[in-house]
Amino acid sequence: MNLLKTKSYINGQWVSGKSRFAVTNPYDHSLVAEVEDMSREQCRTAIQAAHDAFKIWKKYSAAEKATILKKWYDLQMEHAETLAQLLTLEQGKPLTEALGEIKYGASFVEWFAEEARRVYGDTIPGHKRNIRITTIKQPVGVVAAITPWNFPSAMITRKVAPALAAGCTVVIKPPELTPLSALALAELADQAGFPPGVINIVVSSQASEIGKEMCANPLVRKLSFTGSTRVGKILMKQSVDTVKKVSMELGGNAPFIVFDDADIDAAVQGAIASKYRNAGQTCVCTNRLFVQAGIHDAFLAKYTQAVKDLAIGNGMEEGINIGPMIEEKAVVSVEKVVKDALDKGGKLVTGGQRVGEEDSLLFAPTIIADAQRGMQVFSNEIFGPITPIFKFKTEEEVIELANDTPYGLAAYFYGKDYAKIWRVAEALEYGMVGINTGMISTTVAPFGGIKESGFGREGSKYGMDDYLEIKYMCWGGVE
Ligand code: ADP
Repeated sequence: MNLLKTKSYINGQWVSGKSRFAVTNPYDHSLVAEVEDMSREQCRTAIQAAHDAFKIWKKYSAAEKATILKKWYDLQMEHAETLAQLLTLEQGKPLTEALGEIKYGASFVEWFAEEARRVYGDTIPGHKRNIRITTIKQPVGVVAAITPWNFPSAMITRKVAPALAAGCTVVIKPPELTPLSALALAELADQAGFPPGVINIVVSSQASEIGKEMCANPLVRKLSFTGSTRVGKILMKQSVDTVKKVSMELGGNAPFIVFDDADIDAAVQGAIASKYRNAGQTCVCTNRLFVQAGIHDAFLAKYTQAVKDLAIGNGMEEGINIGPMIEEKAVVSVEKVVKDALDKGGKLVTGGQRVGEEDSLLFAPTIIADAQRGMQVFSNEIFGPITPIFKFKTEEEVIELANDTPYGLAAYFYGKDYAKIWRVAEALEYGMVGINTGMISTTVAPFGGIKESGFGREGSKYGMDDYLEIKYMCWGGVE
């Protein structure tokens, strides 16, 4: 089966645009495919199709929706290898990570196929003798989803699966850098048997035009966005006039704290997993590594060795741990924060520069010791393979440092003392806390942030709430 699709998927049809744009492999800049470029009008057509399909899809029983979702899940698992290859070609991450993403992404489809059967309402004791009160949950309607390039597949299923399970229909705008994984999912959805218009994928090079249509169009009742805080704020502002429900999964600035009583080897392993996955390009990646003074030097020595052991190169090749960054802009941005840190007294322990040709997007895994609060690596979301290491003395000091950011997505810490674990976990102003682990993403837990990292939760039993409205019925005259 050919999963390399270049047209958009609207109302069950593969649609061409007036022009096309290139999708390139970030490892060697080679052309992967030319995709059709959709206009704002075509996005409007997709929204109308989703609106029409909603009238049909919302009536499907939970079991009927679950059957089609399960089929979609089975197809994703059956074609996991092909989907992973496509993902690595357009995005660059190592093939094993890409396969992990495909399975992680598919797991949301399976999970929400099951959750579709558990959209329960309540019976509430009435406030008068002759009153009875019940609640039901209903799908919000047409959902627009805008997704990022760092997880080209899983960020789609994490939104679309709960939306469809709830009875909503969807219009997805995948990122222009990685649209092929999205279109492959559409092909499998087509085969799974979703009615036309239930899932629509609009690929476009004009992100802001598509975003404007999705926000301004009154037929869209809910916007779910994963991406930068900057764009999230634009979309929230644009959604005001139609009073749209919105979910925002935005940037992060994750602290990773290693206390004196931590298991150093476990902490090194956890930090490597959290920092260098996807070349440091995830919103839950460790951004600032805080190490307590008593074990600082021992930790740094072991961590440095582990970082030097990471293999960087073509994600398609076996044994590679770090692939290229997504685009030139991304490399320039990490070069800037590294220079800023070194100018302000940071010590380069390893890495610090591009690997290979002048236009290579490979950036060496980097450690900067003696990092300080005034540096950009403290305040900016780095989004690259750079670890700044900050030395701290006390628990109070590190909590204050960790919370000194407008972001509040993920935080991690390693330590053993039971009471301290509770104190620190409660004090961290973050939506997710990893305790003695650097890997927190799973289908069964609620993923999401607080503060400027956004709101709404994806995955888990809570993941469906964002796509449901509660309707309350007041039954009078029960004499
Ligand atoms: P990232 O830093 O991950 O690239 P972005 O926020 O720039 O994050 O991109 C995330 C998604 O938002 C992508 O699909 C991108 O095309 C889209 N996007 C970027 N700018 C806008 C905009 N002004 N309106 C709507 N979508 C946008």
